[in-house]
Amino acid sequence: MGQIQILDEIIANQIAAGEVIEKPASMVKELIENALDAGTTQIDIHAEEGGIKRLVITDNGCGMAADDAVLCFSRYATSKLKQLSDFDSLSSFGFRGEALASIASVSKITLTTRSSNAKLATLVRVHGGKISEVGEAGAPMGTRIEVESLFYNTPARLKFLKSQRAESGAIEATTRQAALAKPEVGFRLQIDSKTKFEARQAPSDNRQFERAIQCLGENTRAHLFPFNAETSLLKLSGYVAAPLATRKDSLGFYLYVNGRFVKDKQLLAAVKVAYRTLLEVGRHPIGALNIELDPQAVDVNVHPQKLEVRFSETPRVQSHIIRLLSDFLATTPWLDSRPQHVIPAEAGIQSHVVMPAQAGFQNSSRPILDASLRWHDTKGPDNSWQPNSLAGVERYRDLRIIGQVNQTFLLFEGQNAMIAIDQHAAHERVVFEKVCAQVKESGLSSQAMLFPISITLSPDDMATLAEKKDAFLPYGFEIEPFGEHQAIIKRTPTGLRTDSLEEIIKDTLSDLKNTDRPDSLQAFSDHICAQIACHTSVRAGQKLDLDEIKALLEQLDIIDYKAHCPHGRPVVRAVPFSEIGSWFHRP
Ligand code: ADP
Ligand code: MG
Repeated sequence: MGQIQILDEIIANQIAAGEVIEKPASMVKELIENALDAGTTQIDIHAEEGGIKRLVITDNGCGMAADDAVLCFSRYATSKLKQLSDFDSLSSFGFRGEALASIASVSKITLTTRSSNAKLATLVRVHGGKISEVGEAGAPMGTRIEVESLFYNTPARLKFLKSQRAESGAIEATTRQAALAKPEVGFRLQIDSKTKFEARQAPSDNRQFERAIQCLGENTRAHLFPFNAETSLLKLSGYVAAPLATRKDSLGFYLYVNGRFVKDKQLLAAVKVAYRTLLEVGRHPIGALNIELDPQAVDVNVHPQKLEVRFSETPRVQSHIIRLLSDFLATTPWLDSRPQHVIPAEAGIQSHVVMPAQAGFQNSSRPILDASLRWHDTKGPDNSWQPNSLAGVERYRDLRIIGQVNQTFLLFEGQNAMIAIDQHAAHERVVFEKVCAQVKESGLSSQAMLFPISITLSPDDMATLAEKKDAFLPYGFEIEPFGEHQAIIKRTPTGLRTDSLEEIIKDTLSDLKNTDRPDSLQAFSDHICAQIACHTSVRAGQKLDLDEIKALLEQLDIIDYKAHCPHGRPVVRAVPFSEIGSWFHRP
């Protein structure tokens, strides 16, 4: 007798479950998607003990007819995919017909569902993949799925789960990710009888903004800017936070591809490149962006939980994202400040600069990440913002100079706030932008070293240098490999101090090595320019006279990204007079 056997369907489903249902949160993701596909307007989720003991999810969607309620538990049962050609351009979330069969094979499910034309709901119980009861029940239109004892019959899987707290956290994150993309649907999540997340259907005029706040946190309200731009390849739209509001982890940036949440390192990398020098080391941006592009150019079916996607041209997608987003950030819309208030630092969010108040944030009420994932005309006014201004003053040079304090900070009077500038950070940003522009135009001028310096390099770095030494030339460096482990520095950029030379070159070589990273060249360029800027600009502790301060203000007016030094530290901070008033208990 042959050795090959066809797997029994339940075992096949259990194996599939290992991929699709890795943990309770992936089950929540599938069940939410089913509810959305069924056209629900409200989803209620209730999880007990990390969703392992019990998970109940209720929707008010179209429900299922009695025979479908039974059929939906068979493998490859789907109402959403009729032909293979649908695969390419699928717009619903489901389409593999695997989720319910997988979940049912590793748990005890009770399904109660009623479609609009049925008087009674159908009730189906499935234990470990076997249907144990089919009956009728009274229930409102829609579907309620109760999953108990997840993985009760696959103890090995149970062992791989994290703590109940971690699993609950993952369920919450999954719920927020879904809620952000579907502002027209209400969501409520209860964990062990406590409401953990509630996003009501917001009024339609500012629905998307309000939903973004509900999901990203109330403390991002004053920091979020609507963003909407497109290239021939893709449309990018949603909200991004000013670089002043950041997080310690990378969980604050939600990315969607054609409305589908993705956890994609390459896309996130592109976003971080756009924020490049605006973030301090170890901080991550906050925002929510939908990338809309031709469905034919994305494969959403490469990952069992559909969390990763594959593009036909990833580097191109990355570079378009980088360009759109960095152009937007370069306009520093967050400097647009009519009435201002200070946002207190709150959990998880670093907030150290004054941001425009909601009142001054005119675009907030426009839906940008469109609910139905069809986009508004991007040529509309969504993308417009007021010209940059500082506390009521349009330009830096219009600020009234109060003077220098502690030989480090410059103080100014704006129309409605006192402004402080860090002189080193500001000058550094000015020099940085100049140096970058110079690199682009003609390359930096260089000087020959009177006594060429030799440095010792690792074999890896030697190989990178041999291959890429010409990449240094536009920056005024001339470096030659010398022997097996050494390199000689013959020329350096004019004005660069030599004390950190070795460090700059080693850092740069390792940046250059990772050329598969989308940001390697940009990072390399930024790195060198930032080093040069840092070593040639005025320092803290240096006395500046009135003319020097004026010159600095004028220079600040003509550069982009003026709110941050190239290391991401803020350059300018404003204290509204109202805030000063409150120090003295003025009404
Ligand atoms: P898929 O979503 O890939 O089609 P699933 O196993 O998730 O596969 O669901 C199987 C089928 O069951 C769906 O195609 C749909 O017809 C039906 N279904 C599942 N959940 C719901 C729901 N909440 N409301 C209505 N129909 C549902
Ligand atoms: Mg599904």
